Amino acid sequence: MRDVVVVGASIAGVTAASALRAEGYRGRLTVLSEESRPPYSRVPLSKGVLGGTQAPETTALPALPDDVELRLGSRATALHTERHLVELEDGDPVPYDGLVIATGSRARRLGAPGQGGELVVRTLEDAEAIASRVPGARTALVVGGGFLGMEVASTLNRHGLAVTVVDRDPPLRRLVGSWLADLVVARARAEGITFASAPDGVALVGDPVRGAAVAGGGELHADIVVSAVGDLPNVEWLQSSGLTVAGGLVVDASCRVAQDVVAAGDVTVVEVSPGVFRREPHWTSAVVQARAAALTLLHGAGEPYQPDHYFWTEQFGLDLKMAGHLPFTGAPRVSAGDPASGSALMAWFEGERCVGAVAMNHRMPVVRLKAMARAA
Ligand SMILES: Cc1cc2nc3c(=O)[nH]c(=O)nc-3n(C[C@H](O)[C@H](O)[C@H](O)COP(=O)(O)OP(=O)(O)OC[C@H]3O[C@@H](n4cnc5c(N)ncnc54)[C@H](O)[C@@H]3O)c2cc1C
Repeated sequence: MRDVVVVGASIAGVTAASALRAEGYRGRLTVLSEESRPPYSRVPLSKGVLGGTQAPETTALPALPDDVELRLGSRATALHTERHLVELEDGDPVPYDGLVIATGSRARRLGAPGQGGELVVRTLEDAEAIASRVPGARTALVVGGGFLGMEVASTLNRHGLAVTVVDRDPPLRRLVGSWLADLVVARARAEGITFASAPDGVALVGDPVRGAAVAGGGELHADIVVSAVGDLPNVEWLQSSGLTVAGGLVVDASCRVAQDVVAAGDVTVVEVSPGVFRREPHWTSAVVQARAAALTLLHGAGEPYQPDHYFWTEQFGLDLKMAGHLPFTGAPRVSAGDPASGSALMAWFEGERCVGAVAMNHRMPVVRLKAMARAA
C-alpha cells in the first residue's frame, strides 16, 4: 500500500493517521478535513470554551507526524470504491490504495430549514458563538437533557445565567439509569437549574429562534436557546458508494467496511446482534476504534475491535468517569466515599457480576475502573 487517505481530521482521523505511522506505514498519507482549523478536541467545547475560561487554542490535538499531509478545507463529496477515488467539493479527486473514513457526526437541529438563531455545540465556531453571547445574556434555555445538554446547562449556570433544561424524557435517565440520573439532577437543581418536562416533544419558536414551545401550548423564552438533541453521522457523502449505512456506517469486528476501506469514530455503527446496530459516540471509543482500523488496513484481518465502554462527563461540580454497560439498573454498591457528599466509588452488579463502575470526584485510575467493570 503506497497511498492512504483519511477523511476527517478529528480524534478518530488523527489517531488513525498517527497509528498508521507508528505501525510502520511509510507510504503517502493524506488527511482531508472539511474544517478550516487544525484538528482540535471537542471535549472542552461544552465546558471551558463555552464558558470563555479556556482559550480555543488549547483545544488543539497533538500534531500529526511531519510527513502527513493535512489538507484543510477539503470536503469529500463522494466515494468510488471500485475506482479507489474520493471526490472533493473543491479540487481534483483524490486516489487511494487504502482509505480511513472518520467523518464523525454533526449536531442534530430542531429548527426548520433556514430558521436562524438555533445554537448548537459541535464545532469550535459553535462554542465561540455561544461564548460571545454569554456576557450580554441573563437567561438560557437548553433543549435536551442528555450528557451534552447538561454540560452546557452547567457551564452557562456557572457563568451566572438562569438556565432551564427542557426534555421530553427525565434528564440523563435513559443514558445512565435512574439512580445516577437522579443524583446528578438533584445536584443541578441545588445549583439553580430549572427543569421543564415536555412529554410530547419540543419545537423551537420564532425566526430567529426566541424560545421553545412545549406541550399544552406553553412557550419558554430565553436570551440564548441551545439545542442538544443528539447528533447525526456524516454519511451523506457515501450515498452512492455502495457501503452499508444503518443509522451510521456499518463496520465489521475489525472496523472494515469494504476492500481497502476501514472506518472509525462517531460515523460508525456496529451490528451487535442481527439487525441491531449500536453507536458508541464517545472519545475513547473513537480512539480505540481508530487504532483497530489502522491495524486492519495495514495487516489485513487486524485485531477485532474491542468496544471500550468508557465515558466521562463534567457537570455541576461532578467529575463522573463511567465504565461498563450503560444504563445501570438500580442502586450501586458504594466501595468508597459517599455519593451524597459528591465523592464516591460505586459499582453496579447483576448477581455477583460487576456490570458497571463509576468514579465520582474520585481518583481511581481509569484503567482500574475499567478493570472493575469487566470483573466477572
Ligand atoms: C461538545 C462536546 C463535548 C464532548 N464531551 C465528551 C466527553 O466529555 N467525554 C467523551 O467521552 N466524549 C465527549 N464528546 C464526544 C467526542 O468528542 C466524540 O466522540 C469525538 O469527537 C468523535 O470523534 P470523530 O473523529 O469520530 O468525529 P468528529 O469529532 O465528529 O470529527 C469528524 C471530522 O470529520 C469532518 N468531516 C465530516 N464530513 C467530512 C467530509 N465529507 N469531508 C471531510 N471532512 C469531513 C468534520 O468536519 C470533523 O472535523 C463530546 C462531543 C462534543 C460535541
